[in-house]
Amino acid sequence: MSDADSPPTDAPSDDSFEPVEPNTGEEFEPVDVFPDSEDFDLRPGADSCYKCSTCDTNCPVAEVDDEFPGPKFQGPEQWRLKQTDDDHTVDDSIMDCSNCMRCDNACPSGVPLSQMHNTARGEYVSQEMSKTSVEYWRNRILSNYRTSAWLASKLPRVANFAMNFGPARWLMEKTMGVTKEREFPEFARQTFREWWASEGGAAGSRERARERRERRGDPVDADKKIAYFHGCYSNYNTPEVAKALVRVYEHFGYEIVVPDQKCSGTPMFANGMLADARRHAEVNISSMADLIEEGYDAIASCTSCSMALRQEYPELFDIEGVDDVAAHTFESVEYLRIHEDLKGAVQAAEIDDDLAEEFAYHAPCHARNQGLDRQAVELFGDLDGVGIEDVGDSCSGISGTYGWKAEKYEKSMQIGEEMFEHMEAADGEVGMTECPTCAMQMEHGTGYEIRHPMELLEAALVD
Ligand code: SF4
Ligand code: SF4
Repeated sequence: MSDADSPPTDAPSDDSFEPVEPNTGEEFEPVDVFPDSEDFDLRPGADSCYKCSTCDTNCPVAEVDDEFPGPKFQGPEQWRLKQTDDDHTVDDSIMDCSNCMRCDNACPSGVPLSQMHNTARGEYVSQEMSKTSVEYWRNRILSNYRTSAWLASKLPRVANFAMNFGPARWLMEKTMGVTKEREFPEFARQTFREWWASEGGAAGSRERARERRERRGDPVDADKKIAYFHGCYSNYNTPEVAKALVRVYEHFGYEIVVPDQKCSGTPMFANGMLADARRHAEVNISSMADLIEEGYDAIASCTSCSMALRQEYPELFDIEGVDDVAAHTFESVEYLRIHEDLKGAVQAAEIDDDLAEEFAYHAPCHARNQGLDRQAVELFGDLDGVGIEDVGDSCSGISGTYGWKAEKYEKSMQIGEEMFEHMEAADGEVGMTECPTCAMQMEHGTGYEIRHPMELLEAALVD
């Protein structure tokens, strides 16, 4: 890592900041790349590729791993190989793609690369990978984080001690290939869902939202209803983020429901566990579709969860209601920017508590794909008592489970190096991001405390 006193040359300056318009979702149209296929057919997307290699030059894994053939090979070229050679099987290098999805944004021809990679990875795991291998079971356990977290939440103090006990970490690396270099995230003593039930659940929220509307002078019967997709991490590890979301939305008079839900599937896509991802998606879509019919919108506080619901589900699964859920899913700050005068509220507020800090903000790759990469900087740049600096457009390098694999740990840290340098060159020593695993990597690489935009909104707006 370079000297923190040497400012990065390519970090964006405040002067270059161009505010973005919120993505209203009106132009969202999921791409059906494989309309006629029930098999893993990579043809339609491959035909749009004209081999410019722009995707390869934007791939953070290819930048640090000379053996990784890059996104062009993983998508369009693998399909061409399949067409010319009946015996061609998906190359095992597909497992080295972190599913950061940066190649989607980079392609000038609109080739849906990540969809092709997810599909090829699913084929590789189902047809090529040994189901008795350590790698398969390591990946399956990592991608089913929700199950491990549920178990740990039953005895959080024991789990927190055991998971970070040095010899246990060493053993996990030796036997399962989970890196010993990272500290496991703490499990909360009370999950978000337990807290939510103790606060009266949906009925309690309805009551509080009505009181808020009366105080704000809004119509008491205003149609302000959201279904919160909290994801696994906010439930088991950082309930303070989920609680902040509840308080901020109720501040604006929204009634909140917290429907039954499973993992968004993000880690499963990245590990080729498409059958697991589909099982979870079926529950999530069923819960959310019913509520959307009743007038709710689905809100996620994690940008990878919103990405899964609004893009990966319709790309990969033909499940009833999937397109409705995609069209009505939003990220938590994005939704308030669309429906409330959030900027005005923040401009009128002031922070004078322990969040009166200079924040080093990292936009997760999946936020970038949804056009949300500048919204936190734009919003909090006007908030009295805090500073916020965008630390650039590099990938954090952890990409969910990727950076937890022992054989990928060093590459993950090499990818993250640019972000660490920019964070250290920025004013202040507190980070901010919307993605829980980017937050892990930011903390791991710099030692900074990391906060979510919802926590700062809560501190600014909620009395
Ligand atoms: S998803 Fe990310 S890691 Fe995978 S090929 Fe695309 S840019 Fe590279
Ligand atoms: S950027 Fe798009 S068109 Fe260019 S090589 Fe990659 S997939 Fe093909």
